[in-house]
Amino acid sequence: MKITLSVIKADIGSIGGHTRPSDELFETVKNYVLKNGKGLFIDCYVGYTGDDIHFLLSHTKGVGNEEIHKLVWDALRVGTEVAKKQGLYGAGQDLLKDSFSGNVKGMGPGVAEMEFEERPNEAFALFTADKTEPGAFNFPFYRLFCEPSANTALLVNPSLSTGLVLTVMDVMTGKKAELKIPQDNFLIAASLMYPGRYVIDAVRNKDNEPLLAATTDRLHNIAGTYVGKDDPAAIVRVQKKYPATEETCSVFKVVHYVAGNTRGSHHLPLMPVKIRPAASSNFCIPIVSGILFSMHEGKFTAYTDAFDTPDWDYYRNKATEKAEYMREQGFVHPATLVPEELEYAPGYKAMMAEVEKRFK
Ligand SMILES: [Mg+2]
Repeated sequence: MKITLSVIKADIGSIGGHTRPSDELFETVKNYVLKNGKGLFIDCYVGYTGDDIHFLLSHTKGVGNEEIHKLVWDALRVGTEVAKKQGLYGAGQDLLKDSFSGNVKGMGPGVAEMEFEERPNEAFALFTADKTEPGAFNFPFYRLFCEPSANTALLVNPSLSTGLVLTVMDVMTGKKAELKIPQDNFLIAASLMYPGRYVIDAVRNKDNEPLLAATTDRLHNIAGTYVGKDDPAAIVRVQKKYPATEETCSVFKVVHYVAGNTRGSHHLPLMPVKIRPAASSNFCIPIVSGILFSMHEGKFTAYTDAFDTPDWDYYRNKATEKAEYMREQGFVHPATLVPEELEYAPGYKAMMAEVEKRFK
């Protein structure tokens, strides 16, 4: 049975700053999709990570389907009205266009989709992050698919060591490059070195089956000005000829430094968290949550929290510690981003313009 998985996510408002959606907002969008999507999708999961609500839909309509996209777009529009009525912070902030034109891609919400022949025991992970940028997944997924010291399967599972193609997107131009694993691993590494510019878009195998699909939109490029960080989501199929669940999740143990955090202007570690967290009030340490799904005939038969077990507390503490080290550095780069990546670039430019006047 050929199934499409569509994940669409957006920030349309949250409580007391950029924390998490209100219960009323969350229930509104969830119920809207459940009520109005009857007959459109097979199954639907709605959750949130920090201030971003994500919708995961299984259906048979293929990638980029107008009805599926419109359903979620309409839910986000209805939710925005609730967010405005409640005075939530950033109400409707990721909806950058007024009228729907066939596809939510390029309208603000992040989209990742894949279509595949369902396996009898289909298993996949959904990762959703907050307070960061699409390139935040570059290093973990590079380690998953290209780095044997992080993933032994690359040495013992031939289906992962031959014929994988990784697509990198240049988020400034929208162009994509297809690079082969492992032949092009150094080229892949070189392009992923600067996550603000080049991001992993997809991974497929030699039979053209999708292993990974990720959101790549940069809101900046849609709105023409800074409107918020583009918190990513990704689907990764797991087990058998794909990476094992534990290989996939453990690449988030590094808690590497990513861009985002407070005022979208800093570098802090990416902390794995339990599902449905509010954003951290501790300088907005970037967060990633993981949900593991079993799916049968398009039905999400069950899901479990990937980062719920006690060992992940150790990595949460590691992230907190790494965040402390970086914050000791105060405003000095690399604690802060380079000027062109600062959310508050105009404010910084105004300060520096004043300094410029005093250079003699
Ligand atoms: Mg967010």
